[in-house]
Amino acid sequence: MRIQNEAALQQFGKRLADLLQPGDVLLLDGDLGAGKTSLTKGIAEGLGIDAPIKSPTFTIIREYQQGRLPLYHMDIYRLENGGADDLGLEEYFEGDGVSVVEWPEFLGQSLPEAYLMLHLVKDENDDDARHLSFDAVGERAQALLKQLDI
Ligand code: ADP
Ligand code: MG
Repeated sequence: MRIQNEAALQQFGKRLADLLQPGDVLLLDGDLGAGKTSLTKGIAEGLGIDAPIKSPTFTIIREYQQGRLPLYHMDIYRLENGGADDLGLEEYFEGDGVSVVEWPEFLGQSLPEAYLMLHLVKDENDDDARHLSFDAVGERAQALLKQLDI
């Protein structure tokens, strides 16, 4: 689907947030500047988190407890290949919150069994536009995608 601008991406994030359940895992795939953190801000807003969402590039994981569900926001870009395996990410993925992972290609062995992958791609001609596509792995993610109705 085509996303016209950043506000529209965040609006989509809010809509997605309304459908989320404990244990949902969202993997955000896309180049630097594609809008992964921006989308996470929309999701956080939709969950009712009013704290500022900062990119967890240096902290790797940021946890927000003040919304409808806990949000575990991860950016694993800085980890060496396979470095994610020592973080115990399964505990987050199987926890009571929602996990949002930037740079999921570096998950390696830690890739969860079920997830909704969101691919963000910049439009070639319009700096403000993005293209969003999905891979739903597992029954829950498929149900989520169906509910999104896109
Ligand atoms: P990432 O986390 O993927 O590296 P960010 O969300 O940090 O990307 O940054 C995206 C940048 O692109 C921001 O500066 C934002 O203002 C800009 N931008 C322009 N159009 C969009 C859009 N449609 N969706 C998301 N970000 C956009
Ligand atoms: Mg980011």
